[in-house]
Amino acid sequence: MSVAERLGLKIGSRNIKLPSNGIFGGPQEVTVRPFVTIDEKFIAGIDEYTGEKSIQNLAKNVVTNAPLNIDDLLDADILFITMIAKCLTYSDIVQTQYLCGQCGTANDKTVNLFDFETKLLQDRSFTTILPKSGLEITYEILTIGKKNKIETEMNQKYQLMNKTVDLSELEVRQLASAITGIKKDGEEVEVTLDEKFEVINTLLTKADMEKWADDMMEQDVNPVFDYEDICSNCGTLNKNRLAMTIDFFFTGISKVQSLPLEDF
Ligand SMILES: [Zn+2]
Repeated sequence: MSVAERLGLKIGSRNIKLPSNGIFGGPQEVTVRPFVTIDEKFIAGIDEYTGEKSIQNLAKNVVTNAPLNIDDLLDADILFITMIAKCLTYSDIVQTQYLCGQCGTANDKTVNLFDFETKLLQDRSFTTILPKSGLEITYEILTIGKKNKIETEMNQKYQLMNKTVDLSELEVRQLASAITGIKKDGEEVEVTLDEKFEVINTLLTKADMEKWADDMMEQDVNPVFDYEDICSNCGTLNKNRLAMTIDFFFTGISKVQSLPLEDF
């Protein structure tokens, strides 16, 4: 019997569905507990340089039903788990603010984060047809494990060259690794990873990249909260989105800006 059971303590945990939806072999659902003192001390020590890895470790600590293998998850899962832990610890009420699309008045809005549904990933891979090059690209959303693997490989390569990793090159390398297939005029073209890198760097136009980024955003499962609200000044109905980012974790329950839905 654990000390918690002997003392009759129950900490208010919550079962949540994870955005990655078990598609990469991770769990579909986990149990999240609120932060305790040791987590709070850990959080106080997180800085912007170690932030990402630290928050991954924090997520591992607050999931109580089974060990969490970060490699099989998406960044969105980590954000969601830590966001829920934060809500369980402090409050699920968030103060947000938006500017009225009609008159520009700043309106305050209170939202309850537990009222929203989790957006779940529907598929492992997606297809986009790029406008200028006419290429049809099939791509995957990269798991944390895949992203880390690419970063490690790049670090090793750059170490041999006595240089530090170029961040934009890392992004392109991750993008190249996400490609699972390329078709031209309906015909599959066989390309190696280095060639995918070359395709992105030298054959795709800005318009191609924008289209691809838009399509990826469509599939994005980062937690977002859509709501409607009537402007206190002019009575216009505004449709807004509160998008959760890692900033939410640090700035927390203070005011988080919402944007008009059509901006996404
Ligand atoms: Zn207004």
